[in-house]
Amino acid sequence: MIEWTEQQQMIRGMMRDFIEKEIQPHIDDLEYNGMPPYDLMRKMFATFGIDQMATANFDRQIAREEAGDTPDKSNDDKTTEERPLTDAALDAVAMPMLLPMELSRVCPGLVTALGVSVGLTANAIMAKGSLAQKKRFARDLLTFEKVGAWAITEPNSGSDAFGSMKSTARRDGEGGYILNGNKTFITNGPFADTIVFICRLEDPEREQQDWKIVSFILDSGMPGLDQSAPFKKMGIGSSPTGELFLSDVKVGPDRLMGESEDGYGRSGAKSTFSAERSGVAAMALGLVERSLEMSLEYANTRVQFGQPIGNYQLVQLKLAKMEVARLNIENMIFRYIETRARGKDLTLAEASAMKLYSAQAAMEVTSEAVQIFGGAGYMRESRVEQLMRDSKILQIYAGTDEMQVVAMARDLMGRS
Ligand SMILES: Cc1cc2nc3c(=O)[nH]c(=O)nc-3n(C[C@H](O)[C@H](O)[C@H](O)COP(=O)(O)OP(=O)(O)OC[C@H]3O[C@@H](n4cnc5c(N)ncnc54)[C@H](O)[C@@H]3O)c2cc1C
Repeated sequence: MIEWTEQQQMIRGMMRDFIEKEIQPHIDDLEYNGMPPYDLMRKMFATFGIDQMATANFDRQIAREEAGDTPDKSNDDKTTEERPLTDAALDAVAMPMLLPMELSRVCPGLVTALGVSVGLTANAIMAKGSLAQKKRFARDLLTFEKVGAWAITEPNSGSDAFGSMKSTARRDGEGGYILNGNKTFITNGPFADTIVFICRLEDPEREQQDWKIVSFILDSGMPGLDQSAPFKKMGIGSSPTGELFLSDVKVGPDRLMGESEDGYGRSGAKSTFSAERSGVAAMALGLVERSLEMSLEYANTRVQFGQPIGNYQLVQLKLAKMEVARLNIENMIFRYIETRARGKDLTLAEASAMKLYSAQAAMEVTSEAVQIFGGAGYMRESRVEQLMRDSKILQIYAGTDEMQVVAMARDLMGRS
């Protein structure tokens, strides 16, 4: 794949129009005044039939599983058999990337809120939940009727997500569990209806660091579960981020992911990390495209020393580097789409390289866009300063830049 198809470009154009009319007017309330993003996203889902497509796909998968065609959960984060490349397969991978790309041109926070709810929370349940849990929790998350949160990070456990994890589940002796722990920096945490809570299962026979990782699906309002107010952040104000406090939350075995203590542990959470990486590249492309367009327009129109600033080679170099970054990210995305459409996965090193490069390029390009705009770029009205602040998060969540380097090096050296 070397370019977007005509149909994909048409859909991008329609999304761009919708965002301009329906989201842009609310951008200050979303970014700075605490307006929750969910109703706007639901409107977008309804306008583009995304909720209906999600329901149809969900119903098809459930019907297959009810007929006995159970997905092989043990194998779903490994490379699968190569399939012949078809236009339909390419489209199936490419289409879901259009929305994050388009939204990130204006409001990357919305992509974060949406991506965590649908991409992480719902998809974790669809991949590892029991049939009953999929029907009970995932359907409403996939259509965005309900908001989801996926909670692994704790005050003392970030990059070392498993090693330092303190949250626990204790068997209650009646088949259920008692959950305790604090989670922080949780996207949608303040408003989530459904929460995937990842913790360690207490095991008196072993040291705490060897306790098994398990996950539970919680509902907002359960006794003992508190959701904080949103944090104030550097960027992506439209994506509410908060804390979760669990104090003796009592749950039945029906809330244990997969209804099994082997349901969604380390490997399940790791495959969720990999899924995030392509989403970050799509966001980076939107940010870079928009910054380049705005910079080109400004370079052509802003006159200093009697000439448009775009006549100066120092400005031209910035524009040229932005285009190089845009092409590189887009080509990485095309490679990702084609690989997935063939039924294969990127290697861990490739997926991490894509995330690392895209995040760094977005940060550099948006920062240079502010530079091209000069003092105007430092003002909120220019909007490029928002894109710069929003870009920074791409280097932190879904694994920091440093952790991508570590993952790549280990994978390349055959040590992962
Ligand atoms: C806006 C936002 C939304 C988020 N959403 C979610 C969410 O929905 N769910 C969730 O569970 N988490 C979420 N997170 C948490 C995010 O995944 C973590 O912040 C991230 O993984 C980094 O962890 P940390 O903040 O604890 O930093 P730390 O792990 O403390 O890292 C601090 C610094 O040390 C570096 N470092 C750490 N270890 C190494 C090493 N071995 N080698 C080299 N350098 C190292 C890091 O790269 C970083 O530069 C979110 C965070 C933010 C800011």
